[in-house]
Parts: sequence; C-alpha cells; structure tokens
Amino acid sequence: MSSGRELLRNYEYLLERLYQKVPPKSGSAEYKIPDPEIIRIGNQTIIRNFREISQKLKRDPQLVARFLQKELAAAGSYDPGSGQLVLNIRVSRRVVNQFLQLFLRQYVRCPTCGSIDTRLRREGKAWILVCEACGAEQPVKAF
Ligand SMILES: [Zn+2]
Repeated sequence: MSSGRELLRNYEYLLERLYQKVPPKSGSAEYKIPDPEIIRIGNQTIIRNFREISQKLKRDPQLVARFLQKELAAAGSYDPGSGQLVLNIRVSRRVVNQFLQLFLRQYVRCPTCGSIDTRLRREGKAWILVCEACGAEQPVKAF
C-alpha cells in the first residue's frame, strides 16, 4: 500500500490550501472616496468635486471621467479649471458612487495586498496595475 506517499501528498495539498487562505494584508480596510457632490440640471449631471475624487483615487481626472462615460454610455466633459465633470445623462449620486467603487476595485486597489499605493502602466495596448507596496503586477482591462 502507498498510504505513506498518499499521506504526504495530502499534507502538501493541505499546506497549499493553507497558504492560499491567508488573507491579503489590509485588503478588507475600507478606503474612503469623497461623496460625489451632484447637481442635476435638465439631462445633465455635474459632479462638482470630481477633481478631489480623482485625486483620492490617485488617477488622472480625464481617465476617471472616461471610465464613467464608458460605463454610463454617456458623453461628458471634464473641466480642469473648475475641477467639475459634466455628464450628459441624469444619474443619481448612488449610481456615480457605485461606479467609483468599481473603478477603485479594478484600477486602483492591488488585488494581492489591498494597497491603493498603485499606478497604471501602459505597455502598448495592455494596461498593468503596478503595486508600489508589494510589487505585484496585474493586467487590467484597458478602456
Ligand atoms: Zn500590492
């Protein structure tokens, strides 16, 4: 009988499982993005503190704006002077918030260690999320 070998295999398997189960460092800590200050005029939505939000997300406001426009399938324009984003669609603060959280999860937070000390590196058409804290590199969907 090869029960000895089998036991060893099981042990290795358990060890592997154990390592996979170690929770990522500080990954569960909630990162606060400022609440979007929203004004709706006609069919437009203005996010007044958009620059501040983008700074908190550590990304170029133009990039965050492009993400929102894509997700909401709406045109829009960011005004660097005022720091406001105008979207040509009526959306609630809750919806804006949801997409900002999505952006944070996909393009800011390191999936390995949970740090937001990251940057996006572009290699041709590919985008890579690079973590300054743990060094992990994660390909992300370009848009
Ligand atoms: Zn990391």
